[in-house]
Amino acid sequence: MVNILANVGIMLMAVYFYMRTSTGWHEQAGGNKSDIINSILLEVLVGIILMSFSIVVDGLRYDFRFLLFCFSAKYLDWKVTSSSILLLAILRFGWGNDQVAQMNLLASVILAVSLPLIAAFIKKKWNDLMQLYILVSYCMWPTILLSNYLIADRLQAVYISMVMVVVGYGSIFIMHHFVFDLYYLIISASTDHLTGLKNVRAFHKELSSVEQRNNPSVTLAVIDIDYFKDYNDFFGHDSGDATLRQLAGVFNAQAVSEATFYRIGGEEFALVLENTQATDSENFVRHLQKAVEENVFYATTGEPIALTISAGVAHRRKNESLKKTLKRADNALYQAKRNGRNKVMIAQLH
Ligand code: GH3
Ligand code: MG
Ligand code: MG
Repeated sequence: MVNILANVGIMLMAVYFYMRTSTGWHEQAGGNKSDIINSILLEVLVGIILMSFSIVVDGLRYDFRFLLFCFSAKYLDWKVTSSSILLLAILRFGWGNDQVAQMNLLASVILAVSLPLIAAFIKKKWNDLMQLYILVSYCMWPTILLSNYLIADRLQAVYISMVMVVVGYGSIFIMHHFVFDLYYLIISASTDHLTGLKNVRAFHKELSSVEQRNNPSVTLAVIDIDYFKDYNDFFGHDSGDATLRQLAGVFNAQAVSEATFYRIGGEEFALVLENTQATDSENFVRHLQKAVEENVFYATTGEPIALTISAGVAHRRKNESLKKTLKRADNALYQAKRNGRNKVMIAQLH
């Protein structure tokens, strides 16, 4: 019983981390390589802990990795899920090279291929909870098959299968209602719910923390979509929202560790660049403006559309308050709009 509780406890933590890492990177083309590797390492680590806390009945090791794989298939993508399943199956041999480990490897290969496909197939067909129930039901077959095959005592095999089913469904239910609430409570405080970018609250918090660190090498950029009101009037507000999400996707695809994006207003964004040369920061914003110009956005009707942004950039002056730097970036944005839009204007440093 203690082991089952420990397994569920570990799963709760894992789900929380999934939620943190799944703020959209895997939905972009290609994804960020280091994010993918970190997610695989995290999943494998949680898997190893789960195996260590597993219950051994009649020489068979039972753990709740199948729950881990379900969350991974739903909230991360196949690159993470399949790699982790296979890696963990190989690591399972560390607990002994026996018939169970070999069958586990075989089942894992089948799961690694089929689970992400099922997750993709049921996506958008049912609600989140139902999707998880379907994935868990599917993931339980190797364990149930294994118990029936390897345990001579039928009653014991049935008993173990029942425990797996009850704990599996129960955990999914608890995680869905408990962890998700907790997650949204913590994350929504600093995340914009529409785009998944950081919100205006996080932006002001970051400005004051940069100020406290007294970092002299800071550049602020303010970005505003051109003619977005016309776009909304033509395609509708929902389509506008979808475009804002696509734009956040373009931003994320351009992201580097020195630059953080924030949604600070309806269709206004800010960028904080730290520890970069002034010219590099300027080039980064210019590159971003070009990337948006070249990107094809889609209205909810499926119609391809073009979108442009204007940006104002200001480098922090010596001993200047960031509030003033922001004001200068805002003024530069105003200039970019006046000069015809789809432009980046740099505020005078001196
Ligand atoms: P420009 O910036 O080029 O001067 O023109 P604009 O039409 O974009 O003007 P402005 O920046 O003032 O645009 C604000 C418009 O953005 C008003 C509203 O229609 C739209 N908008 C603001 N917030 C949202 C939002 O959350 N969702 C959607 N769909 N539209 C929004
Ligand atoms: Mg605006
Ligand atoms: Mg605008």
